Amino acid sequence: MISLIRNGLKSEISKKGEYQMKTYLPTEKCTKCKGRCCRQMPGICHPDDIARMFPANLFLDSINKALKTKKFCIDWYEDSHGGNHYMRPSVKGSEGVVYHPAWYGECVFLTHTGCSLGFETRPFTCKTLKPSDDKECISSIEENEKLFMAKIWDKTDVDLRRLQIRTQENIKRSLIF
Ligand code: SF4
Ligand code: SF4
Repeated sequence: MISLIRNGLKSEISKKGEYQMKTYLPTEKCTKCKGRCCRQMPGICHPDDIARMFPANLFLDSINKALKTKKFCIDWYEDSHGGNHYMRPSVKGSEGVVYHPAWYGECVFLTHTGCSLGFETRPFTCKTLKPSDDKECISSIEENEKLFMAKIWDKTDVDLRRLQIRTQENIKRSLIF
């Protein structure tokens, strides 16, 4: 079943519990390491992050508004064949690139004083990282993060591959081609 995500409406996805995933506020460990995670690769947005930051009647319009800022792009899980797309902040130097399958790069929102977004507006996966003194800060998403988030995006009414609203007709068409 496809859920329609619109600003102001609680999406079916949230009701299923993804927001119950443990999130962590930044700590002095983050200040000390100056955003090591953000320098490696931006986090991944939940569809609701985009709907909240860029309110519109249609979720597709929220996505287009986000892309127009040139600070967000569409990426995908590498092993996928035609599906599993998601949105994330752009990496510095690639602002305005709409489809950007990057492996590495510093997040466009990272400043010398840390993330320029408020905690609430940060991409969902940024908030699931548990600050640690170790080299690796572990996410509370215990499976493949890209695939996990892409599956959430696949439940929305927008096909990110074509930037169009999914209808029964174009779902059928995409199964044929
Ligand atoms: S989550 Fe970890 S890597 Fe990221 S800023 Fe905090 S301590 Fe550094
Ligand atoms: S949005 Fe903020 S917290 Fe997330 S990767 Fe970018 S700078 Fe880091």
